[in-house]
Amino acid sequence: MRTISSWGRLSAFPHQLIALNDPARIASLLRDSPKPGIAYGMGRSYGDVCLNPEGVLWLTTGLDHFIAFDESTGRLTCEAGVLLRDIQRLTIPHGWILPVTPGTQLVTVGGAIANDVHGKSHHVSGSFGDHIERIRLMRTDGEIIECGPHSRPDWFAATVGGLGLTGVIVEAEIQLRRVAGPWLDTETLPFADLDEFFRLTDDSETAWEHTVAWIDCISGGMGGKAGRGIFMRGNHADVGQRPEPKARQRTMPFTPPLSLVNRLSLRPFNITYYNLKKWRAGRAILHYEPFFYPLDNLQEWNRMYGSRGFFQYQSVVPREVGQDATQAMLREIARSGDGSFLAVLKTFGNRQPPGMLSFPQPGVTLALDFPNHGDKTHRLFARLDAIVRAAKGRLYPAKDARMSRALFAAGYPRLPEFLNYRDAGISSELSRRLIEN
Ligand SMILES: Cc1cc2nc3c(=O)[nH]c(=O)nc-3n(C[C@H](O)[C@H](O)[C@H](O)COP(=O)(O)OP(=O)(O)OC[C@H]3O[C@@H](n4cnc5c(N)ncnc54)[C@H](O)[C@@H]3O)c2cc1C
Repeated sequence: MRTISSWGRLSAFPHQLIALNDPARIASLLRDSPKPGIAYGMGRSYGDVCLNPEGVLWLTTGLDHFIAFDESTGRLTCEAGVLLRDIQRLTIPHGWILPVTPGTQLVTVGGAIANDVHGKSHHVSGSFGDHIERIRLMRTDGEIIECGPHSRPDWFAATVGGLGLTGVIVEAEIQLRRVAGPWLDTETLPFADLDEFFRLTDDSETAWEHTVAWIDCISGGMGGKAGRGIFMRGNHADVGQRPEPKARQRTMPFTPPLSLVNRLSLRPFNITYYNLKKWRAGRAILHYEPFFYPLDNLQEWNRMYGSRGFFQYQSVVPREVGQDATQAMLREIARSGDGSFLAVLKTFGNRQPPGMLSFPQPGVTLALDFPNHGDKTHRLFARLDAIVRAAKGRLYPAKDARMSRALFAAGYPRLPEFLNYRDAGISSELSRRLIEN
């Protein structure tokens, strides 16, 4: 038994760990598991989707082999524990990149499928599952299911975004996107309020493949206009050979007893960050790693929220009500004085998601970190939930540790259909909290 927590460090409970390193032994390890288990990739989910206190975690990072890569078509087959970082480092020199990656590349292929992760390119490329051609899924009764968008599509739709609950993904085939190299032509633009954000996002949707905004979550307090921030957009560019930036990996050296993110630090940080970015605004050629994954440079940055850990609250609401709902949420957050430097605003494209429980839906997504201040934080979340529910939106299970069953059911109308595909030998803290077992 070992104590394991997820990225939010909200809890630390003992788990029985079973490493799935050898594909030939997975069937017997799953069948003979002493208790129900759940796959655990890099544990980069913030809440309890990858946790199973007192139960089993099947560790997948040992499934780290590349199986095939066709340089002429960009089709890659690999085991499910391969990291997105390692795919990119292998394939970009050959002219292929993952079309969709989240804000960290330190996640596994299995984790990216099970949460159907999204990135800055959603309006162009959809979510991770949109680029999966085949999944090999192993059930705890030993059955192997090969599925894809065109073969056994119902199993595919249940497994993409299926929160690890339909079986263990052992292998996947991914279609990559052509690129000239690792560089992007980028532009950074400050905006004064949400009106300007929506104008920028609309103007960028056709011409820019990657868009995202940082938002100053305290700027909407005192009845002021919510939502000044920094808009970033980028396109892959052919700029020939350039020296790659030196990797400067740092590690958060200690876990402070109290969160370093607090009322005192937040305001000066946000003002400084906004003004610095505003001053440096404009065009720049950037390497894909600092552009897509700036947080990966500081390892274990999650410890800065102190020993009580932190939540991330990520919602998506339909575009028609997106501005009002976002404004209302930002007002509540500014009034609470909580929130963090990490506040991200983005629009999702107008496309249906590939999975029954995929999070992305057409609309506006807002993601913010909150230090865990117990009841006070939960009271703020209850007010945000009411806004999301009224707007017919949903929360992202990959980031969640506390939403109610009612909110989950309301946000995910395909949940009853999904339940037909669950594996009875699999259970997680999230499934018990939101689905009963
Ligand atoms: C800094 C940071 C930025 C992030 N940015 C984004 C973002 O922009 N967009 C976004 O969508 N997400 C984002 N995330 C969340 C992250 O991408 C997801 O939580 C991702 O699923 C984590 O992958 P993992 O390998 O760590 O999986 P884990 O967190 O270990 O597990 C996640 C889920 O996948 C399941 N799973 C893992 N492996 C398998 C397998 N082989 N078979 C079946 N199920 C499996 C687990 O059971 C669990 O349900 C971010 C996270 C961090 C820490």
